[in-house]
Amino acid sequence: MPMMPVEHALARLLESAEACPITERETLSLAQAQGRVLAQDIVATLDLPPWPNSAMDGYALRLADWSGEPLPVSQRILAGHAPEPLAPGTCARIFTGAPVPAGADCVEMQENVEVLADGRVRFTQALSLEQNIRPQGQETRCGECVLSTGTRLGPVELGLAASLGVARLDVVRRPRVAVVSTGDELVEPGQPLAPGQIYNSNRVLLCSWLQRLECEVIDAGILADDLEQTRAALAGLGHVDLIVSTGGVSVGEADFLGHALREDGELDLWKLAIKPGKPLTFGHYRGVPVLGLPGNPASTLVTFALLARPYLLRRQGVQAVTPLQFQVPAAFAWTRAGTRREYLRARLEQGRALPYRNQSSGVLRSAVWADGLIEVREGTTLAEGDAVTFIPLSEVLG
Ligand code: AMP
Ligand code: MG
Repeated sequence: MPMMPVEHALARLLESAEACPITERETLSLAQAQGRVLAQDIVATLDLPPWPNSAMDGYALRLADWSGEPLPVSQRILAGHAPEPLAPGTCARIFTGAPVPAGADCVEMQENVEVLADGRVRFTQALSLEQNIRPQGQETRCGECVLSTGTRLGPVELGLAASLGVARLDVVRRPRVAVVSTGDELVEPGQPLAPGQIYNSNRVLLCSWLQRLECEVIDAGILADDLEQTRAALAGLGHVDLIVSTGGVSVGEADFLGHALREDGELDLWKLAIKPGKPLTFGHYRGVPVLGLPGNPASTLVTFALLARPYLLRRQGVQAVTPLQFQVPAAFAWTRAGTRREYLRARLEQGRALPYRNQSSGVLRSAVWADGLIEVREGTTLAEGDAVTFIPLSEVLG
């Protein structure tokens, strides 16, 4: 069986996610909505700014009233206060963000005027129409859609909603995701380590990551390599939207997840053209989607970032699931073209991408040292300085 390219696996996962969207909604205040996915369009019910306002501390005047002679000051307009219409032949003291009075069509900054002893103001520079005035509706017009369904709400989106007076939003219910760690060798931190055992690092890695993704996490603990236990654990998770497991997906004797899915569900076992992370299971257990990630921690990290995360976002209706990535010069040479797409844990140093010295899939330190993933496509070689794709970890970790 030929290996499946990463983009095929992603396309199949996204298709499957679209076939079972999370449809329940809830209405939240802005303060509660951080990280959630918008389930409605936000349409502006006012212009922004709602009225023309001053971009400077200075003086507002009608340009036609200015002959070069000083103008008397007829009012003082502070932000938050409604002005009177501008009296003809006068100017108004005005501050940044304050409404420009009706009749004024120009604001001069205070640095460019001379205030005379009698209080009149002399404008010393040339003036032009509409200068230093932020027009009504410059940012947004009433009726425009400013945030659409499927947008993830971060601090900036929430700020924009607030600027339009939106106090509550409809969002998609949090995905309920169960995390299962498999392996007889696993022990939780805090316990003594017997010969042959290792500490379970994937559990906290995935649980904390899923929390960042605003999922409701069901920590299903460690499963022994045992078919009965695997079946029982899967059967007890019928209420979740996704089961993510790690380990036990290599086609070997210890492939209990695969056995259970074959018996009581459906199984797709994919040999992905990806490194780290070749074996990946996707299937359903009694209707619940199950994503079986490889157990090596760096493989778990890469496959979760590139496959599980977009899948979970798409279940919530997010269209933009591709992480930001950009081209940077390689600080290394790649002389042997691979058959799998490699994701090297790497750092940007002086604008060049430098991989960690040990790219073994068991090494999580590589990812702590790194601030991104270099993508090296299958079948390519690289000379130092050639462009490579770099995906910042910050793009995928939340
Ligand atoms: P497996 O796919 O179960 O054969 O696991 C592949 C490798 O990942 C083995 O060396 C496992 O010991 C290791 N591994 C599996 N699960 C975990 C885990 N939760 N934490 C740390 N290492 C793990
Ligand atoms: Mg195992």
